[in-house]
Amino acid sequence: MAPLTNGSVHKSTKIHSKVVIIGSGPAGHTAAVYLARANLNPVLFEGFMANGFAAGGQLTTTTEIENYPGFPKGIMGPELMDKFREQSIRFGTQVITETVSKIDLSARPFRYWREGQEDEEPETADAVIIATGASAKRLGLNGEDMYWQSGISACAVCDGAVPIFRNKPLAVIGGGDSAAEEATYLTKYGSHVYVLVRRGELRASKIMAKRLMNNPKITVLWHTVATECQGDGDLLNNLRLKNVFTGEEKDLPVNGLFYAIGHEPATALVRNQLHTDEDGYIITGTRHNTN
Ligand code: NDP
Repeated sequence: MAPLTNGSVHKSTKIHSKVVIIGSGPAGHTAAVYLARANLNPVLFEGFMANGFAAGGQLTTTTEIENYPGFPKGIMGPELMDKFREQSIRFGTQVITETVSKIDLSARPFRYWREGQEDEEPETADAVIIATGASAKRLGLNGEDMYWQSGISACAVCDGAVPIFRNKPLAVIGGGDSAAEEATYLTKYGSHVYVLVRRGELRASKIMAKRLMNNPKITVLWHTVATECQGDGDLLNNLRLKNVFTGEEKDLPVNGLFYAIGHEPATALVRNQLHTDEDGYIITGTRHNTN
C-alpha cells in the first residue's frame, strides 16, 4: 500500500488485515483509535459517499454539537469528524476513502469487496467491525418523489441555505431533537417554520424543545401529518395536512419540507448474514452472530 501524507492509502493490491472497520462515524473511529493503540493495525474504510454521506457520516451534516464532552463551547459536526479521523491516523490506522459494497461472513478469514470491484478477488480480515450507521427516513408521500431535492430534503444543514428556501415558509416533520434542531436552523433562512408533530407532545429533549417552542419564527402544529406534497411541476409550494384527531384536512403553503423522523440503519451489507431486529439494527452480543 502507498500511504498518503495524511495517512490515507491509495487503491492497492488486495490486503489482509487483522481487523477491518467499515464506517467512519464516531463508532468507526473510536474502534480505530483503540485498535491502533493496541497495535492491531486496523484498516478503516471511510466510504466514498457511502449511504449518501461524506466520509465522517451523519455528523458531517449537522451544525453545532453542544453535548459532546470536552468541547465546552460546542463544535461543528464536520470539524469533530475531522478530529476523529486525525486521531485514528495518528495512531496508525489506514484510512481508505472507498466504500465496502459486499461482504461474506460465512468463513474465516472474512472476505469483502470494494465498490466497483465486486467481480475481483476479495480482500480479507480476521475480524470485521460494522460501524455503518444510519440514514434519514422518508415518508413516501404522494408527490414526494416528484419534489425530492426540489423543495423536499432530509437535511436542513445540507440544503437549508439554497435560494429556493430564502424568506419562504418552510415545514419540518418530526418531534424529536433532529426536528427541533433543523427547525431552529431553518429560521435563519425561511420566513417562518412550521413543525408538524403527529402526537400532542414532542420527543425532543427538554432544552431543545424549549428552544423550539420559544422561537417566534416557529409554529408547532400538533396532531398533524402531511398527506401530499404539491407544487407547480418544478418546485414544491404546498402540503396537504391532516389532523389525526378530527380528520380535518387543509393546505399549508410552504416552499420547503424537511424530514426529521428518525433513521434507518445501513445494514443491507450484512442482511441475511447477521441477526437484526425489526428495524434492521444488528443484534450484538449473541453467539448465533458468530459463524
Ligand atoms: P427520534 O426517533 O428521536 O424522533 C423522531 C421523531 O419523528 C419523533 O417525534 C416521531 O414521532 C417522529 N416520527 C417518526 N415517524 C414518523 C412518521 N411516520 N410521521 C410523522 N412523524 C414521525 O429521531 P431524531 O432523529 O430526532 O433523534 C435521534 C437521536 O439523536 C435521539 O437520541 C436524539 O436525542 C439524538 N439527537 C440529538 C441532537 C442534539 O442533541 N443536538 C440532535 C439530533 C438528534 P413520535 O414521537 O410520535 O414517535
